[in-house]
Amino acid sequence: MYCCTCGKAIDDTCRYCPECGSQQVTGQFTNYYYQLNKETDQLAVWGFGCALAGFCLPLPLIDCIIGIMGTIFCIKGLKSARHGKLAAAGVVIGILGVIGSIMLVLLEPDVYLEW
Ligand SMILES: [Zn+2]
Repeated sequence: MYCCTCGKAIDDTCRYCPECGSQQVTGQFTNYYYQLNKETDQLAVWGFGCALAGFCLPLPLIDCIIGIMGTIFCIKGLKSARHGKLAAAGVVIGILGVIGSIMLVLLEPDVYLEW
């Protein structure tokens, strides 16, 4: 079977994964949990990417949207076993990015709201 957390192939009798040490859900649910974890992992990575893009791009209005999306993805990705820390970082960066964008618009509305 495959580890339900990290996806490595492990012995069917293992109750704990030798790779990552996580407890195994045995039986037919293993693949389901692995799939679920995979989706959460992906959300964490994508969310972090969006949050980072929102933080770095010099376009406050678009930033805000990307940053909020990234933050939402990351909050869902917080449960990710592999990328939980990445997701947590994404939440922080996402929120900072959105606040930063709002501040920029408020401070210099002429520059950013022109178009
Ligand atoms: Zn594992």
